[in-house]
Amino acid sequence: MGKVTGFMEFKRKAEPYRDPAVRLLDFNEIYTEHDESHLATQGSRCMDCGVPFCQSDEGCPVYNLIPEWNDLVYKGQWRDALDRLHKTNNFPEFTGRVCPAPCEGACVLGITDPAVTIKNIEMAIIDRGFAEGWVVPNPPAQRTGKKVAVIGSGPAGLSAADQLNKAGHSVTVYERADRIGGLLMYGIPNMKLAKDEVVERRVNILREEGIEFITGAEIADGNNGTTSIKSLRESNDAVLLATGATIPRDLPIPGRELTGVHFAMEFLTANTKSLLDSRHADGDYISAKDKDVIVIGGGDTGTDCIGTSLRHGCKSLVNFELFPQPPEARAANNPWPTWPKIFRVDYGHEEASLVQGSDPRVYSISSLNFIGDDHGQVTGVRTTQVKMVDGKFENIPGTEKDWPADLVLLAMGFLGPDHNVSDPLELEYDERSNFKAEYGKYDTNVGKVFAAGDCRRGQSLVVRAINEGREAAREIDRYLMGSTQLP
Ligand SMILES: Cc1cc2nc3c(=O)[nH]c(=O)nc-3n(C[C@H](O)[C@H](O)[C@H](O)COP(=O)(O)OP(=O)(O)OC[C@H]3O[C@@H](n4cnc5c(N)ncnc54)[C@H](O)[C@@H]3O)c2cc1C
Ligand code: SF4
Repeated sequence: MGKVTGFMEFKRKAEPYRDPAVRLLDFNEIYTEHDESHLATQGSRCMDCGVPFCQSDEGCPVYNLIPEWNDLVYKGQWRDALDRLHKTNNFPEFTGRVCPAPCEGACVLGITDPAVTIKNIEMAIIDRGFAEGWVVPNPPAQRTGKKVAVIGSGPAGLSAADQLNKAGHSVTVYERADRIGGLLMYGIPNMKLAKDEVVERRVNILREEGIEFITGAEIADGNNGTTSIKSLRESNDAVLLATGATIPRDLPIPGRELTGVHFAMEFLTANTKSLLDSRHADGDYISAKDKDVIVIGGGDTGTDCIGTSLRHGCKSLVNFELFPQPPEARAANNPWPTWPKIFRVDYGHEEASLVQGSDPRVYSISSLNFIGDDHGQVTGVRTTQVKMVDGKFENIPGTEKDWPADLVLLAMGFLGPDHNVSDPLELEYDERSNFKAEYGKYDTNVGKVFAAGDCRRGQSLVVRAINEGREAAREIDRYLMGSTQLP
């Protein structure tokens, strides 16, 4: 603990995002330059708790050694801080940018004062590491002769591949998209996580360390241009399924077939691909320009649809939320150190408030039907206010309302993984259609086949996917070698 009285002397001050009026003009990252002396002060607020809840089960899912690197940053020992950070987290440049930071929700200081700015400090350590040239390819000294196929290149697949490669196994990552990264690439937009500068920078290091990446490779039954999962299983010593929870939840109300009603991922994926391919010059994306946009569903996906629509220059924007507005402070049934379910203003909400003069979110609202014109184009959404009765939502009579819309984006979460890769193996599913594999073990009912990340646990967070990829790599290594040194 660097400064014994730090938590009493200094207030929490998080790093600001770029000015919304300026950042709305581009798709560049929303973050500002790190001020290291400011971060050292913020690091000094850490109390080096006897029981550091920040890195407990309620806090950081990869068990980052948070008090250690808070202290090292306070003392200016950035290189040591980086080494500590990489011990537990393969990709802190991703989590430092996009993680909602359950560590901060569990920080002991949060009982009486605002939490330590853990996420800012994490991001600054890894950004400094890259700027100094400290993060370089480090291929394994020896190879084991074992081959592992990883299906899916999101954070679960990448962290597993990294760990397995470090253990000396020969790893090939198969990805059906044209770029590596899963939702880090085609999900989370560029303004939250830069693709060329951050995601591909790490993928290039992994490639130089010896991992092979094959894009445009859909792994399924081997028909219709897909690669056979059965033959991959035969030709490898182990297979990890890390295919994400990619089936979106639909809204099957009248008018769903109208033109202009899209899943959020159709909108976000096409936007990022067109941005990266041609800076949008190819026009190969769903534009929100001059349109009345309604985003149905909140969460990160809804926020990203808001931020992207505003950057296109939409005419108006509304975001429907089925649930009531969360409270400003923790409710009695949501005590520390659980994740605080409180009202938050994310980057997209701040930007919409600036452009429109008010927050775009409307709460306790349910969509009844889409409204269309004679050409089959959506022109609006009819809604009703709802209230919770005995744990179920009920419509409130007389509250129906029509909202204008030329573009409706469905951001209501995901149902589970695509079964095209698992059905040919006769893999077992859990009651939510996820690949059945026990947390901590990750093996499925099919020999040699493991599963990790959102395809196993359902839609979650980048940091949880990294955790599952790391742990699945450990179990695969144990399976291949009889014992393991991997954490
Ligand atoms: C729009 C959006 C924003 C989000 N924002 C955040 C955020 O800010 N912070 C956060 O922590 N989490 C966020 N999340 C959640 C987070 O991105 C996921 O929890 C995480 O990416 C899951 O990682 P994964 O590796 O399990 O799967 P994914 O990232 O989904 O990767 C799975 C990959 O497998 C590939 N694949 C699937 N099937 C096959 C097949 N048969 N053959 C070959 N390849 C296949 C897919 O193309 C995909 O690339 C967001 C999610 C979305 C949708
Ligand atoms: S819980 Fe908060 S104050 Fe305690 S060690 Fe972790 S970051 Fe520091």
